[in-house]
Parts: sequence; C-alpha cells; structure tokens
Amino acid sequence: MSTLREELGAGRPSFSFEFFPPKTDAGQRALWDAIRRIEGLAPTFVSVTYGAGGSSRDRTIGVTKRIVAETTLRPVAHLTAVGHSVAELRRIIGQYADAGVRDVLVLRGDPPGDPRGGWTPDPRGFTYAYELVELVHELGDFSVGVAAFPERHPRSPDWDGDIRHFVAKCRAGAHYAITQMFFHVEDYLRLRDRVAAAGCDTPIIPEIMPAIDARQIRRFAELSNAAFPEDLAHRLEAARHDPGTAYRIGVEYATAMAERLLAEGAPGLHYITLNRSAATTEIHQNVALAGL
Ligand code: FAD
Repeated sequence: MSTLREELGAGRPSFSFEFFPPKTDAGQRALWDAIRRIEGLAPTFVSVTYGAGGSSRDRTIGVTKRIVAETTLRPVAHLTAVGHSVAELRRIIGQYADAGVRDVLVLRGDPPGDPRGGWTPDPRGFTYAYELVELVHELGDFSVGVAAFPERHPRSPDWDGDIRHFVAKCRAGAHYAITQMFFHVEDYLRLRDRVAAAGCDTPIIPEIMPAIDARQIRRFAELSNAAFPEDLAHRLEAARHDPGTAYRIGVEYATAMAERLLAEGAPGLHYITLNRSAATTEIHQNVALAGL
C-alpha cells in the first residue's frame, strides 16, 4: 500500500472523513455504522480525533486500532501534546506503530475545559506542535499532518507570527495540513497565498463541516473562531422546525464550498462527519458527480 504522503503527492484530490471516539454503546454503534458506509466510498483516509481526558484518549487509540484491524480504511490518528509528558507521547506513538498505524495528525491541543483558558505547559512535555512533529519522525516512518487556521489561530496576535510558526511546523516535517472549519472560501485562499508567499508548499486540505443545525454549528464555530455567515444562519434558523429543509440548506452550502475549493486547486477535502455519514456522503457524491 502506498503511504499517505505518496497518495497526496499523486496529483489527485484526496477525500477523507473525520470521526470522534464515542462514549456510549449507542454512540459506538452509530460510529461503526458510519464507518462501514464510508468504507464503501474508498476514501483516501479517515481520521479519529483525540480527546482532552484519559478515557477519551484511550477510546481514540481503541477506535484507530480497530479501523486498522477490521476495515480496508487508512486511519490517521490525531495526537495532541497537551497533558502528556514526552515519555507518555513516546509510548502512545509506539502503540500506534505496533498496531500498524503509519499516519498521525500532530496537534498541540488546548487546555482541558476551556479551550481559550490559560495553561501552563507540562515541564515534562511540549509547548508547541512542531516539537511533537519532530518526536514522531524520530520514532518511526510516519506520514505527518498538522493543523492550519484559515482565520488565524485564536491565540496568534497577528498574521505574520501565525504564518511563521505554521511554516516552521511544516519544515519540522509535516507532509500536509488540514484546516480548522471555516465557511468563507476566501479565508482558505488567503491562508494558502500567505503560506505560499512565505516559501512553503505543504498541501493544505480544507475541512468541510456541513452546517445542518444552526445552534450546534454556531457553538462549534465560536469554539473554533470560525465566522459563521449571517445569511446561512438566518436560513437555518428559519428552518429550525424543519430538519429536512435545514439538511438541504447545509448540504447545498457545503457542496458549493467544496466545488469552489477544488476548482481553486485545493489538494483535497476533509469532511467532519460527527459520526453520521448522510450529509458528508451526499456532499462527496455531489462533488464527484460534478466531475471534480
Ligand atoms: P501549534 O502549531 O503549536 O500552534 C499553537 C499556537 O502557538 C499558535 O498561535 C501558533 O502560532 C503558536 N506557536 C507555534 N509555534 C510557536 C513558537 N515556536 N513560538 C511562539 N508561538 C508559537 N484538538 C484536540 O484536542 N484534539 C483533536 O483531535 C484535534 N484535532 C484537530 C484537527 C484539526 C484539523 C485542527 C485544525 C485542529 C484540531 N484540534 C484538535 C485543535 C488544536 O489542538 C488547537 O487548535 C490548538 O490550539 C492548536 O494546535 P496546533 O497544533 O495548531 O498548535
């Protein structure tokens, strides 16, 4: 099997889906139902987010290992530095390698509880993602992804520093980046131009979040600093008692974004599923039907 960095360098747009590790048995069933449906689309990869606390972290490792063992999918394991010593990070990376996971999305992470809250890095751990990128490379032959922020990282006081640190993270060994969710294509294009102007050609894959529930998306958008378009919010709010209409609005908006991003040369699309396959599968099929 080719490595993810080879796949991403092959010139075809990648398409991928993100899941989170659920807490309950019902959540596990919904996740595996979604994974099985998405497996039928033969995506480039699927990814599993890494939580803030111990049990959720164990669930990420469990789901990722099960994807390797029981499916034909290529799992990308998210891994955050926050709350781990370097020794713990070494152990987790070793567990992934033993399970056959070769792809890691390396993140700094946020303080548990309030992602905007203050935090003191663990003196036995790392402060920034680039340090974990270096460690992952030291420990094995992994394809490494990192995070990118079309509206700037919320803790970055200005664009210059934000781009400088992003480029340094890529030069530490990132093969690709995946963006935070966003709802205006121009934000992605400006980020890509800024990174290119800084002399960095790491592919930046845009993340697509289907906005089919106004309240939920507003909460996510606030947490991630993404500006949510007012006209889309009004249309979704007007349809709040009509889930079918809200679903159509969200799928159409995301399809139009996805088509424009690919037409503008984005190297792929990374869909947030929230462990439900219907909306992202439909957007993906719309894009495929358009021949993109
Ligand atoms: P970094 O690259 O370390 O950047 C963090 C901040 O520090 C930025 O402001 C940056 O400019 C600054 N900085 C970097 N290097 C330096 C330096 N040398 N000196 C000074 N400042 C510096 N979180 C989770 O908990 N679990 C997940 O599974 C998860 N998945 C994600 C997936 C994607 C696609 C994205 C975009 C984000 C994800 N996150 C996840 C959120 C992420 O952990 C947070 O956004 C976190 O605040 C930043 O992580 P980072 O890897 O970009 O950090």
